[in-house]
Formats: sequence, C-alpha cells, structure tokens
Amino acid sequence: MTRHYEGSCHCGAIKFSYDGEEITQGLRCNCSICRRKGAMMSTEVIPLERLQIEASPEDIGLYQFDTAIAKHYFCKHCGIYTHNETLRAPGSCRVNLGCIDEIDTGDLELVVFDGKNLL
Ligand SMILES: [Zn+2]
Repeated sequence: MTRHYEGSCHCGAIKFSYDGEEITQGLRCNCSICRRKGAMMSTEVIPLERLQIEASPEDIGLYQFDTAIAKHYFCKHCGIYTHNETLRAPGSCRVNLGCIDEIDTGDLELVVFDGKNLL
C-alpha cells in the first residue's frame, strides 16, 4: 500500500514529500557520518524524481566526503539533516524519519545497516 508522507527540517526552510511504502521500520547505519548524526533513516530507497523538495536552493547545504558519491543534505539554518542520496544507488535517497511529524521513530522496528564496511 502506498502512503503519502510529508516532512521538514526543524525550522521549516526545507520541506519534502513523497509517496512510498508504509513506514514500519527505521534504518540506522554505522558508517562514520551516520553514527555521528544518529538519525533514523527510511529503509525505503526513494528515487529522487519521487521526492518533492520545497526549499530555496540557498537554504540547502550539501556535505560530501571520501568518494563524494553520496550526497548528504541539511538545512543551512537549523542544521537538520533531511535526506541523503545514497552511495549504492545514486539518483535515489533515504529520508530522515525524524523529519516526518506523524512518525514516532521510537515505535519503529530497527534495521541496522552495515555502512561502515561498504567500501
Ligand atoms: Zn531548517
């Protein structure tokens, strides 16, 4: 069943929405950046064309490291990390489930992703 989800950074400068699978699980990754952020991400990898971003380009920060394939996006005002384009599936992204108001990340089944050993 497809659901519609809407999310935003803390200050609201970045809003996103997408239609995707029902969120029942959250993904935590042990790579060097994810363990610092501690964010719970969508297990679904969402094609970028299915993710609507509503924000001024100058409000969106981009952080890249190592191979610079993955793209980590954050709000330049409140610092919240909203989504990232994944290393293994460029052109697709995971969203930060904490940005979706109707989701309580504490209620989700935890899936651990071994990102540390990807490369
Ligand atoms: Zn913000």
